[in-house]
Amino acid sequence: MRTRFAPSPTGFLHVGGARTALFCYLQARAAKGVFILRIEDTDLERSTPESVQAILDGMAWLGLDYDEGPYYQTQRFDRYAEVAGQLLDEGRAYRCWCSKERIEALREEQMKLGQKPRYDGHCRDGAEPVAGVKPVVRFRNPLDGEVVFDDLVRGRISISNTELDDLVIARPDGSPTYNFTVVVDDLDMGVNLVIRGDDHINNTPRQINIYCALGAEPPAFAHVPMILGSDGARLSKRHGAVSVLQYREDGYLPEALFNYLVRLGWSHGDQEIFSRAEMIEYFDIRDVNRKAAAFDTDKLDWLNQHYMRSLPPGEVARHLRWHFKRMGIDPDQGPPLEDLVGVQADRVKTLKEMAEQSRVFYEELGDYDEGSAKKHLRPVAEEPLRAVGNRLADLLVWDPGRLNEAVRITAEERGIGMGKIAQPLRVALTGAAVSPSIDKTLWLAGRERSLERISRALAFIAARAAAM
Ligand code: GLU
Repeated sequence: MRTRFAPSPTGFLHVGGARTALFCYLQARAAKGVFILRIEDTDLERSTPESVQAILDGMAWLGLDYDEGPYYQTQRFDRYAEVAGQLLDEGRAYRCWCSKERIEALREEQMKLGQKPRYDGHCRDGAEPVAGVKPVVRFRNPLDGEVVFDDLVRGRISISNTELDDLVIARPDGSPTYNFTVVVDDLDMGVNLVIRGDDHINNTPRQINIYCALGAEPPAFAHVPMILGSDGARLSKRHGAVSVLQYREDGYLPEALFNYLVRLGWSHGDQEIFSRAEMIEYFDIRDVNRKAAAFDTDKLDWLNQHYMRSLPPGEVARHLRWHFKRMGIDPDQGPPLEDLVGVQADRVKTLKEMAEQSRVFYEELGDYDEGSAKKHLRPVAEEPLRAVGNRLADLLVWDPGRLNEAVRITAEERGIGMGKIAQPLRVALTGAAVSPSIDKTLWLAGRERSLERISRALAFIAARAAAM
């Protein structure tokens, strides 16, 4: 089994492309075959090195490791010229000197008659060279018969050759066109299963004819449906993020996006969560649904939470570190990220939120949230806060169990509810009244920061009392 992902580097790696790539990857892995990456950069105007990089980065982030490539089509122009020459020699292709004007006039005429625009074969049987004109090379498509293939997703597809025309395989400057390069590459690279978006389904019969002209067996084809937005329209930027790397920025784990994308159009019973090994074991391209699937952000969020909670904390921490760095927070100025993940994974939807809500454990505390300070840092809180501060200062071991006990005993001694101490403490430690459980908050803040912040809150209360 040899599959390939063949993106055109004309933009970022979007989720549709990524899903195609992961289907290729899984099918290759399932069959212990080879997964090839080929960059289709023949469109020199629209291809950019930044897009190539975005594709490579997106694939690396998703863990889509390929066995061969990246191959670049721009490095294979000699080979395409060689094969075009071979087709010309064998009479399977011919030079066409028709001017742009002629082709344009033909097109207009056909449109007027309500016909599909197609080349009329004017130069097919021996045309005279036109002085000063560089010809294109056209493939001599069969005039009759049918092209039939069994698409692994869509089933049997047949199209009559009368529907197809003689397509240009090399432009006047000699540069090759898509339908030709794809065939040459897939043949040279030994690809025997082509998995791609169903926007290419109309190209397939043309490509099959080229395989036959080259005396080669066409590969198997699987055309996967596109991804729709929640409103049923083709997924686009207006539905939110469509770039794979945007999902990284938004705080999703690659495991979550991977799992999400594989389930978009593929299923195995009603199982939702799959380890990589399970996907490889169960995946079969023939089980991909032929109907387009709609993107559902709530489900992605749900998977992200699942993976934040269930992956080894060290693994989640590795991705969280990336977000910290991006936000200019030094992850080494606070509790180990694994500890943070253990506490916060249940409380947030994304790693980005986790990083945002955890700043206070790594940086200086800014101003108190006004409402929280007004409500909780009041003179009545001074004595219990001081008492709990003293008790905490005496602790020899700073662990959640002992921290909890210190707060509880301080409350019990005073006959007050634990919240009467925990809330002022929260504001003292984090600047606001919402945080993880008080023992975990203290634990993450650490001894030094906690004691210093309690002193600061006591000073704040004193200043407030003095001003009244
Ligand atoms: N380069 C084409 C694209 O990005 C894919 C071609 C193929 O998979 O055959 O749409």
